[in-house]
Amino acid sequence: MATTASVYRNGNYSRNSLGTNNNKVERPPSVNSNPKNSLKSKSLRKSAPAALGAAKDDTGVPGRVRVAVRLRPRNAEERVADADFPDCVELQPEVKRLKLRKNNWDSDTYEFDELLTEFASQKRVYEVVAKPVVESVLDGYNGTVMAYGQTGTGKTYTLGQLGEEDTAARGIMVRAMEDILADVSLETNSVSMSYLQLYMETIQDLLNPTNDNISIVEDPKSGDVSLPGATLVEIRNQQSFVDLLRLGEAHRFAANTKLNAESSRSHAILMVHVKRSVRGRDSVLSSENGDNSPMVKSLKPPIVRKGKLVIVDLAGSERIDKSGSEGHTLEEAKSINLSLSALGKCINALAENSAHVPVRDSKLTRLLRDSFGGTARTSLVITIGPSPRHRGETASTIMFGQRAMKVENMLKLKEEFDYKSLSRRLDQQLDKFIAEHERQQKAFEDEIKRVTMEAQNQISESERNYADALEKDKTNYQKEYMESIKKLEDKWMMNQQKHAGGENIPGLKEESSNAISNGKGSRVANMEELAEMKKKLQKETLLRKAAEGEVNILKSQLAGLKKSEALAKSDVSKLQKMLEDEACQKEKLEGEIATLQSQLLQISFEADETARRIDKGGSEEVLGGLDSLMLQVRQPQINDSGNGEKAPIAKLFEQVGLQKILSLLEAEDADVRIHAVKVVANLAAEETNQEKIVEAGGLKSLLLLLRSSEDETIYRVAAGAIANLAMNETNQELIMAQGGIHLLSMTAGNAKDPQTFRMIAGAIANLCGNDKLQMKLRSEGGIKALLGMVRCRHPDVLAQVARGIANFAKCESRASTQGNKTGRSLLIEDGVLPWIVQNANNEASPIRRHIELALCHLAQHEVNAKDMISGGALRELVRVSRDCSREDTRTLAHRTLTSSPTFQAEMRRLRIDH
Ligand code: ADP
Ligand code: MG
Repeated sequence: MATTASVYRNGNYSRNSLGTNNNKVERPPSVNSNPKNSLKSKSLRKSAPAALGAAKDDTGVPGRVRVAVRLRPRNAEERVADADFPDCVELQPEVKRLKLRKNNWDSDTYEFDELLTEFASQKRVYEVVAKPVVESVLDGYNGTVMAYGQTGTGKTYTLGQLGEEDTAARGIMVRAMEDILADVSLETNSVSMSYLQLYMETIQDLLNPTNDNISIVEDPKSGDVSLPGATLVEIRNQQSFVDLLRLGEAHRFAANTKLNAESSRSHAILMVHVKRSVRGRDSVLSSENGDNSPMVKSLKPPIVRKGKLVIVDLAGSERIDKSGSEGHTLEEAKSINLSLSALGKCINALAENSAHVPVRDSKLTRLLRDSFGGTARTSLVITIGPSPRHRGETASTIMFGQRAMKVENMLKLKEEFDYKSLSRRLDQQLDKFIAEHERQQKAFEDEIKRVTMEAQNQISESERNYADALEKDKTNYQKEYMESIKKLEDKWMMNQQKHAGGENIPGLKEESSNAISNGKGSRVANMEELAEMKKKLQKETLLRKAAEGEVNILKSQLAGLKKSEALAKSDVSKLQKMLEDEACQKEKLEGEIATLQSQLLQISFEADETARRIDKGGSEEVLGGLDSLMLQVRQPQINDSGNGEKAPIAKLFEQVGLQKILSLLEAEDADVRIHAVKVVANLAAEETNQEKIVEAGGLKSLLLLLRSSEDETIYRVAAGAIANLAMNETNQELIMAQGGIHLLSMTAGNAKDPQTFRMIAGAIANLCGNDKLQMKLRSEGGIKALLGMVRCRHPDVLAQVARGIANFAKCESRASTQGNKTGRSLLIEDGVLPWIVQNANNEASPIRRHIELALCHLAQHEVNAKDMISGGALRELVRVSRDCSREDTRTLAHRTLTSSPTFQAEMRRLRIDH
């Protein structure tokens, strides 16, 4: 078997045998050495650089099965039924990643060779998935293209669509043949096909339906697989090929109707053989490279090079109900499943480098044996649908694809680098914000100082000017005044002298003679003088008025200055206002910084989480039925037992401090609150943190959030966090003591999102498992709240409800056994029994499993027996004791039935064998 394994292991074979990482074997140099061939191929070889299976790809992983994922667009039904739900996957083709949602804030990430979104065209799908395979078939290798996925996700659309109405819709089979026919000349070369169906380990000929049991022949020397019994039709042109495909499809339909089978349960296999002549030089190189073709060995040009293209539209990957509900016997169901599960086993064995690859276990794997041979090129397209309702099937399909890729753990480095650089970027941005804000604040303070100084300078200068001007005017007036007084005094003196000896004064001689001549002469002169004095006085008054005017002008100037002072003051207050605005802005920035910080927290948490998951090994299986809540809590435990690396949460605490994180729960900004509660929820998933969170008042804050918030995201995440905290017994008591049941049922009343219900039900289910809290839980309406949530019919919610009921029943049963409880089960009192009976055979295994356990616990006490019989629970219990897939549950049910006299009597009455 070791030889089979090494042949099967494709590129690794050569690596192992040579002990080096020589990947040249992947594509022998002979491939393009035929000048004619390479010329011709040129026009054809324009595949996308990242094409699947291309030897020149940059992944450095030679010869592994290349895997692409294709997402089907929502169909009409899903657009209606899933309108309120996001797709269960998110494709990131740029980074070749697929995110599978675990819940509303958490998802798993997988890497694939190529991701084809719902918008990917058929042409692009062909080029990425199949074209490189077709090219290598033309070069004389075996090539295989397979589609794997749940029924209805687009396998046949991807591979078999004929596209006669819409050329753009042509699938891989049609496009492959177009490329083949364009590359070979039919005069010297030949192209032929067989078309087969594999159903229940029987191979039928779709080109000749009477041929319905074809056997597989393996050449023991070369290991070549062939089907000598199958019709082989020579292809002359594209149209004849399309006609054959259509004919095959019609025969497939007819055959399946006759067998009463669905086509989704069978595999359709198209085989295209390309034979072409090549020149001698090639053949020498080919034989060096281990080409097994018998023609090559002759070394005689011209030789024929044979390539075989196998395109397989696999049966639907969904699990077949073994109960026979589709009209199959168990044997049939096994046989229907056989080929697909054998394929899965072979892929697993190859992925794990196992020494034994069980190729001989089924017809499909025998047929595909040389598809995995040393020189074969194989592409797998994984088809998935977007509906969250099929998340389980989609997850297992994705895991199949992951195994098929034989994941190399390259993811780890990239992830770490991405997160680190992102966190670095956020840090830098944060520092930039802080520095910028500091600079702005300083600039504003300086500006205010400058403006205030300027205004003060202006004011004091104006005051100085005013005082100077006033002083100058005053001296002027005083001077003028003194001068006029002096003038008057002089005149007065002159008059005095005139009166004393006028003759001496020539000017007055005439006057005095006049006075003498005229008796009233001196009086007249006095009168004139008076008039002159009056005139001077008037002039004086005018001057005074002018001075007053000037004073007024100065006063108005002063008023003007005062006004400008007031203006300066208002400028100052404006600047103050700006400063206040700035402070506001600062606060906002601080809020943003807090948001960024909390995002950073979450990202680094996720990064650690991812890193941890990667550390645990890339081959982690999706625990389909396992509740992700439990998963979140258990993972750290698994990890704790591992190496002594510092727990990521401890790092978080160190970096930020729990108190600070918790304080963000009360942040004003709703975004910050949401981020904070998410971080707390993630922290609460780690058992080691639960105590710290509760000690720091986190539980109180979370309960407060349930009471005060109106935001569904907060409800959901806070309830999730509480559910995680409720894993621990001490916390359970605290939650109950702080009115947790009331708050959780109130939140359930406001919730709309099934995920919120799931979290709430999960929290209550955890509380149900506490022996001490049974009575209180019930009296506060815990059971009724749990039962009320079944109105949201989401299976995840129902699973949590069932878990809660099972937990409760188990505690009750324990209490009864210890003599602490008498009387009927509180579950029966609260009317849970009808729901239990209704769902005891629920098709979702997590729901069924919990209910089966609940039934067994309830049945262990005679007081419940009567109610159980009248409620129809006995029938279910009998079923569990016979058919339950878990042996321990089956035994428990059986023992319970045997030990109850009431049940025994009823079974005798109903003649039920036991
Ligand atoms: P499968 O073969 O996996 O059971 P089908 O190929 O029959 O699925 O696809 C189911 C339905 O979905 C068909 O009606 C098909 O036309 C449609 N479909 C599948 N994939 C696509 C796609 N990529 N774009 C549009 N319609 C699609
Ligand atoms: Mg199909």
